[in-house]
Amino acid sequence: MKITRVSSVVVNAEMRNWVFVKVETDQDGLWGWGEASLEWKTRAVVGAIDDFAPMLVGEDPTRIEHLYQKMYRQSFWRMGVIGMSAISGIEQALWDILGKHKDSPVCELLGGRVRDKVRMYTHLGGGQMSAVYETQMQAGASQFVDLAREVVEQGYTAVKVLLTPPTEPLNSAADCRYAEGVMRALRDGLGEDIDIMVDCHGRHFPANAIEFCRVLAPYRPYFVEEPVPPENVEAMAEVRRASPVPIATGERLVTRFGFREVLEKQACHIIQPDLCHCGGLWEAKKIAAMAEAYYVGVAPHNPLGPVANAAALHFALSTPNFLIQEDMLSDVPWRWDVVKHDLRTEDGHWLPTNAPGLGIEVDEDEARKHPFKQEVMHSLTVRAADGAILDW
Ligand SMILES: [Mg+2]
Repeated sequence: MKITRVSSVVVNAEMRNWVFVKVETDQDGLWGWGEASLEWKTRAVVGAIDDFAPMLVGEDPTRIEHLYQKMYRQSFWRMGVIGMSAISGIEQALWDILGKHKDSPVCELLGGRVRDKVRMYTHLGGGQMSAVYETQMQAGASQFVDLAREVVEQGYTAVKVLLTPPTEPLNSAADCRYAEGVMRALRDGLGEDIDIMVDCHGRHFPANAIEFCRVLAPYRPYFVEEPVPPENVEAMAEVRRASPVPIATGERLVTRFGFREVLEKQACHIIQPDLCHCGGLWEAKKIAAMAEAYYVGVAPHNPLGPVANAAALHFALSTPNFLIQEDMLSDVPWRWDVVKHDLRTEDGHWLPTNAPGLGIEVDEDEARKHPFKQEVMHSLTVRAADGAILDW
């Protein structure tokens, strides 16, 4: 069997463009799908996929590790998130091909199922409200509670929220009071049985990140995510040592090499690789195995398209230190119209599928109805009172 073509299909889903990767073979009707979506870098990722294609055409698609090595090492230049997202989407498509070729779900090829279902959580408001601080402030605590209740009514037992405002190097008293007020309202409104994760989007410096962790601690957040930006692992470790609540990070890290320092410095309790960025399914399995040796759990990041959901399902089903999976509940109403799939949910969990491969096919005719568009988020900035740009 040989690879004959590597291409991508871009679908605009308002807040982000989904990049679906198709790897075709010389076997009649046998191809694979993966996802390489990367917010606001769509054209760069599509270009990287096109750059990798000549390295793959003519190769045996079942030699997944071999082809990963070829893309990673023969590129000479080590790649950041753009190149690794392209590799991730291609790699997922190779697993889809292998699963279809063997008539086996991908999770059976990744060591087999270690659990019977996969616990999910979702962002309140699909991330859009919480991404814009002014909107968030205007919404007030009660709107967070209303959104969370809607999510819980759909069966979820865990939600994630951005409630710490973008800050300058130190917090004001009002920043802390705002975050505490939203968290208290959520805990009071949802009770003790719903887990509440707080994503900080890397908005803070260590001093104010630690202060937020202490302020939120009485309301028992499940974890606090990216309390500081990802570039400085020592700063993350400082927060982790001082924080009374568990710390999660890793959505912006790629490859096992990117996660090595985080684990060695014990900078978090939970890692959050994104299977569409970190290098794909097999790389994520390696990262998870490294984490397992440090008693660190895995809660994969995934606000992306439906093919990413399918890949995440097979990872979660086969990974022992998996904790919980991010799921995109609401981005566009036609989300599931652009794919044919066998994914089922029940009481806030994904259920296993017996379909071969990843169990999902992109409907290319439907996908073509939503061509690439420049995302509105691209032009938004979060600013301090003096006009300086802040992390959003
Ligand atoms: Mg995050």
